[in-house]
Amino acid sequence: MTANETVSYYFSEAARILGLDDRLWRQLITPYREVKVECSIARDDGSVATYVGFRVQHDNSRGPMKGGIRYHPEVDPDEVNALASLMTWKTAVVNLPYGGAKGGIAVDPSKLSRGELQRLTRVYVEKLHDLIGPYVDIPAPDMGTDAEVMGWIVDEYSKFHGWAPGVVTGKPVELGGSLGREAATGRGLLYAAQCFFADHGQHISDFRYAIQGFGNVGSWAARLFHEAGGRIVAVSDVHSALYNPQGIDIPALMNYTKTHHGRLAGFPGAEQHPREFVLSAPCDVFIPAALGGVLTRQTAPAVQARYVLEGANHPSDPEADAIFAQRGITVLPDIYANAGGVTVSYFEWVQNIQQYRWDEARVNEELSRVMRTAYADLLATAARYGCSLRIAAYVLAVSRVERATRLRGL
Ligand code: NAD
Repeated sequence: MTANETVSYYFSEAARILGLDDRLWRQLITPYREVKVECSIARDDGSVATYVGFRVQHDNSRGPMKGGIRYHPEVDPDEVNALASLMTWKTAVVNLPYGGAKGGIAVDPSKLSRGELQRLTRVYVEKLHDLIGPYVDIPAPDMGTDAEVMGWIVDEYSKFHGWAPGVVTGKPVELGGSLGREAATGRGLLYAAQCFFADHGQHISDFRYAIQGFGNVGSWAARLFHEAGGRIVAVSDVHSALYNPQGIDIPALMNYTKTHHGRLAGFPGAEQHPREFVLSAPCDVFIPAALGGVLTRQTAPAVQARYVLEGANHPSDPEADAIFAQRGITVLPDIYANAGGVTVSYFEWVQNIQQYRWDEARVNEELSRVMRTAYADLLATAARYGCSLRIAAYVLAVSRVERATRLRGL
């Protein structure tokens, strides 16, 4: 199932439950704008390379559109479309005054020098600057992009429009980034899990965790769940997986990756396995935090966890969801569980607009409040419609977007 088919399936389930009429159904599923741009740059060796960039703006009925920029060889229009609509539903679940968008360039950033990446980013912004902006569409980091890339975007955008740090979030703190943004998605996962476990009389420290992906989301989740007393038994990256049933020493692993080009392979405190191992590792909670579409009819039966906490976007397709439901595995869905990143992005944007700085304690406290409120809304929706947390999240989101669309007048 493609990413778009997956998101459309969940949307349609929610639309059916809500009894959405055909006209709104069609309006909410159709992207507001889709853009494809050619990005040609001079390579360091003097040759010219051409890449294709995308930006899909899905919906702006609740506010400016918001969504990350991904640099990855598998970026394609279908997935960018799906990710853009996921952002619309995600910002609505946590009730931020935003719509949804997503962008990306089909490129393997590990094959480019930092200078080449900077030139590529600037060309991408040059092509898109009239279509983004603090009150129009606000990009952020996603897979393969980071705070430094966001700094280049601010600089390039400001050449055309004047100083405008609010054009992107996830910036370096020196350029108007927010304290706490880097850790925010991992921290949001922690808060989501705390809400869920507290509801069942349990704690983070009661469980063993396996985490797929050790980038921004995966590594912060590992650190924060470890600090909260959780036992991280398995982690993986694009190259390999590590397993230690006694629990991996996460601070030692963080130090190891710093001196080994970010890679996990060879860490002495754990067994070495192929990267796929993490999907079937013995654990209680599985946290996908890498690519989408990893949990399918083929892989879901092997998952040993009792809970799936979705750090990645659209990691599970509907067939995997059905298998999990049948096996009594509870899924905390992406559009709620990983919303910590966009929530602190919103706080960053608010600080940029007000030209005022929050301390980190305030950021984390407000994030906790947003995650708790959304969890209560999710539970109430699931109880009202007798559905899973995933479908409840979509019902909640679609109903909020639908109301805003109607109120703005068709
Ligand atoms: P990242 O680029 O920082 O890290 C990605 C990690 O995944 C790396 O460790 C990489 O080695 C690993 N990986 C890549 N391909 C893999 C494969 N085939 N098998 C196993 N591991 C693989 O990206 P990130 O920002 O941490 O994002 C990870 C996921 O979380 C994405 O789905 C992204 O859309 C989602 N997400 C990110 C944020 C955010 O704030 N960064 C917010 C919400 C959701």
